Amino acid sequence: MPDHIATPSRTNDILRRHGFRFKKSLGQNFLTNPKILSNIVAAAAVSAADDVIEIGPGIGALTEFLATAAHQVLALEIDPRLLPVLAETLAPYPNTTVVEGDVLKADLATLIATHFDGQHAIKVVANLPYYITTPILMHLIDAPIDFASITVMMQKEVAARLTAQPNSKDYGSLSIGVQQHMDVAVAFTVSRTAFVPAPNVDSAIVTLTRRATPRAAVVDQAAFDRLVRGSFVARRKTLWNNLTSLYGKSDDTKAKLTTALAAVEIAPSQRAEQLSIAQFAALSEALRTAGL
Ligand code: SAM
Repeated sequence: MPDHIATPSRTNDILRRHGFRFKKSLGQNFLTNPKILSNIVAAAAVSAADDVIEIGPGIGALTEFLATAAHQVLALEIDPRLLPVLAETLAPYPNTTVVEGDVLKADLATLIATHFDGQHAIKVVANLPYYITTPILMHLIDAPIDFASITVMMQKEVAARLTAQPNSKDYGSLSIGVQQHMDVAVAFTVSRTAFVPAPNVDSAIVTLTRRATPRAAVVDQAAFDRLVRGSFVARRKTLWNNLTSLYGKSDDTKAKLTTALAAVEIAPSQRAEQLSIAQFAALSEALRTAGL
């Protein structure tokens, strides 16, 4: 049995033999630490009862650990140059399928129906390409799939935004958009030195699981999302300032804003970062009632 793919010496050997050159534009930073990979699989609690979707297998460092623990693994890789490499490195793992493609364009429900048997829980586990962390998370959260969990590595600063609570500098529309539907927890952090090439940032493993019910009930999700995003456009300014920029500055609009804010007991002088998700939901509903 050869060494793990992720040992520095085997990774270097694979990359050299295939003449592989990293593409920075695809977020290619490969993990070269088997202990960290084993900890990621443990954080995701992957077992033979699970089918796993991996985004961006690279040369298969994480895929190998997933294949050993899971029932089936389906890995989506955008870079066609990695397909022959993966065919070689994953040959000992027949429960693994690699599909070439862009995860953001992938129809995950169809892929799952095609590749998995429907008898196993479905988990997502990935060391994400950092340039599209947020779009990928939104794609996964919005997909019509009941993932048992999503366990992904991302830039530490993004993990801080995902888990942020009100009254902190990291709290914003991303925290609210994700926490409304998901429970989010940081499992552990990883130094940039665990990757080749080393990225400019440290990383964190985050686990997301869908809540049985959203953190706050929202009648009109699109209006809620617009309110939240608009409220944080100028973070340092007051809610009033952001709301008048969003809805308009006419006397009629201002009167409606005043009515809505009073109805939910939010002072116009507050800042968006002081409001909980429940308060945003209540405000969204009050604005709707006031005719905005
Ligand atoms: N899983 C490997 C590891 O842990 O060493 C590689 C992780 S690397 C951070 C991100 C991987 O995602 C790269 O292999 C890259 O080519 C791939 N990737 C980038 N954009 C992608 C996309 N839109 N869809 C699928 N894979 C993508």
